[in-house]
Amino acid sequence: MIPFNFIYYRPDSLKEAVDIFAELQSGGKGAVYYAGGSETITMCRVGSIQPQAVIDIKNIPDCALLVKDIQMLHLGSVCTLTQIHNSGLFPLLGLSCGRIADHTNQCRITLGGNLSGTIIYRETSLPLLISDAEITLFGPEGERILPFKNVFNGRMQFKPGELIVQVGVPVWALSARHAHIKKTANEKIDYPLVSLAAIWKDGNIRIAFSGVCSYPFRSEQIEAVLNDRTKSCAERAENAAGLLPESAYSDGEGTGEYRLFVLKNTLEELLEDWDNALL
Ligand SMILES: Cc1cc2nc3c(=O)[nH]c(=O)nc-3n(C[C@H](O)[C@H](O)[C@H](O)COP(=O)(O)OP(=O)(O)OC[C@H]3O[C@@H](n4cnc5c(N)ncnc54)[C@H](O)[C@@H]3O)c2cc1C
Repeated sequence: MIPFNFIYYRPDSLKEAVDIFAELQSGGKGAVYYAGGSETITMCRVGSIQPQAVIDIKNIPDCALLVKDIQMLHLGSVCTLTQIHNSGLFPLLGLSCGRIADHTNQCRITLGGNLSGTIIYRETSLPLLISDAEITLFGPEGERILPFKNVFNGRMQFKPGELIVQVGVPVWALSARHAHIKKTANEKIDYPLVSLAAIWKDGNIRIAFSGVCSYPFRSEQIEAVLNDRTKSCAERAENAAGLLPESAYSDGEGTGEYRLFVLKNTLEELLEDWDNALL
């Protein structure tokens, strides 16, 4: 049960949504955008947030697109993980979606919610960081279309009152050679110790990680090391693990040391498969 009252809005357009948000803010009322609601409801139940209003964006057509044209795949922010996985349109993102939470929650959790939520893993960001994806945001100052990597720096960098409308993925990435690996401590369905997404472009690997540090990241330095095929797989994996942007993450699932161990083994296996042309 949610132990307080709040106002529920369900706008039909982006303008209506941001206008409601701005009006509530100027009236001193805290509001949150609401998509799948899985995180928002949990946080309201345990009392870590207490919004006076929620603005449900699922009725906004621009946020619900799932369509491919000759240049791009357009993925609306309220597409669920299940819709993305089942569409088969971007297999690498489909693999990431298929390993987040369980089937019931995958029917609810949205792309925009996963990218914007407080849970640190944000695993759907990994395929977007390596595929030259762009993102469309809408806020009180109107629309912004930007390279995804420019507004996702471990987490979304929103201007006040902005929301994610959709993500665009160029067609080259939809059919590129790719790999997705998620290692968890115990069960198949769990938060990651190490989660990685890789894509090959012009013969080189691009790679992004979650679980290893306290935020998801892509590192060009790590990619340069992994692409140096004059070195052995073990050497490249060892060197890459030494280039993390911060100390490896420690929590109840695994210590930083253990995560580093898992990372090195995972990278070595990935590189061996690449060298043996299994990927
Ligand atoms: C059982 C379970 C297991 C999970 N396991 C994983 C995991 O393994 N890996 C992983 O990466 N994540 C995992 N998650 C995290 C999950 O992806 C996030 O909690 C996500 O926020 C839920 O999406 P939602 O659509 O339900 O978000 P909501 O609860 O609707 O929203 C969450 C936050 O995002 C904001 N938001 C939502 N949509 C938008 C938008 N379009 N624009 C701007 N802000 C927006 C909301 O305002 C709110 O602050 C798990 C969650 C659950 C419940």
